[in-house]
Amino acid sequence: MRPTLGNPQNTIEILQKYDFSFQKKFGQNFLIDTHVLDKIILAAGITKDDMVLEIGPGIGTMTQYLAEAAGKVVAVEIDKNLIPILSDTLKDYGNVTVINEDVLKLDIKKLAGEEHAGRLVKVVANLPYYITTPIIMGLFEHNVPVESITVMVQKEVADRMQTGPGSKDYGALSLAVQYYAEPYIVANVPPNCFMPRPKVGSAVIRLTRHEKPPVEVKDERLLFDIIRASFNQRRKTLANGLNNSGTLDIPKEEITNAIEKLGKGPGVRGESLTLEEFARLSNYLYPMTA
Ligand code: SAM
Repeated sequence: MRPTLGNPQNTIEILQKYDFSFQKKFGQNFLIDTHVLDKIILAAGITKDDMVLEIGPGIGTMTQYLAEAAGKVVAVEIDKNLIPILSDTLKDYGNVTVINEDVLKLDIKKLAGEEHAGRLVKVVANLPYYITTPIIMGLFEHNVPVESITVMVQKEVADRMQTGPGSKDYGALSLAVQYYAEPYIVANVPPNCFMPRPKVGSAVIRLTRHEKPPVEVKDERLLFDIIRASFNQRRKTLANGLNNSGTLDIPKEEITNAIEKLGKGPGVRGESLTLEEFARLSNYLYPMTA
């Protein structure tokens, strides 16, 4: 079976048939380019052994492609007006389950356990851009058994996830994503591949989850508290950022000593530190927090 959706004409037909109005608050920009869809499926490396979790199926465009490639697809859609449309566009696919829920409120770990016996799932989605970061970080932080996350996001966000020290895009998101996964930007996607067109450029990024994080830390929460404190006040030195974080309660001299132990001068800024250096810093400071 070939997917019927993915081009402007069929998309418009379905939208008209159901008199559907786009809801801006749900970040609805539907894909209307079959090449982009093929590229996403290829990049996600889906096989018939896989269960795919799709976040925000819309009218079911990518869901059709996923259903062709995967063993099973579970698609979570918040907009109740799309549910009758999905019943129509996905009626020929017996391996798709649609759940009408807010993905941020769903216990995905439990769902993966029930639907795929706790085995690793692949997440594939054209994400609603207003909640990209909470969705991705939620999957990692709640230890959802994911093998990879292949998603369409704002180009700027994809760049932030993939970059390293020295770039203006480098920040807490880069470090958090790279702690959990290996990022790879698959393709840049212009606004004319969507209906309606978003105001910003988009990119497909694949995040392949590390079997274990590339650095060892005594306390993950402390690592992320330190990272956040360092980037909250970008123009400050690392030492000042950590001293005035409001979350860390560590004496100033201990912070200065730890930065020195790292082999850095007092004027060093957080944006020049690698993940490995943040990990060492957090391990030096750990005894002061215990
Ligand atoms: N997958 C479709 C496509 O590519 O054409 C639609 C992608 S559109 C960018 C994002 C979709 O996510 C919309 O269908 C929207 O209603 C849905 N959505 C928005 N917020 C959501 C949430 N919190 N939980 C689940 N779905 C959500």
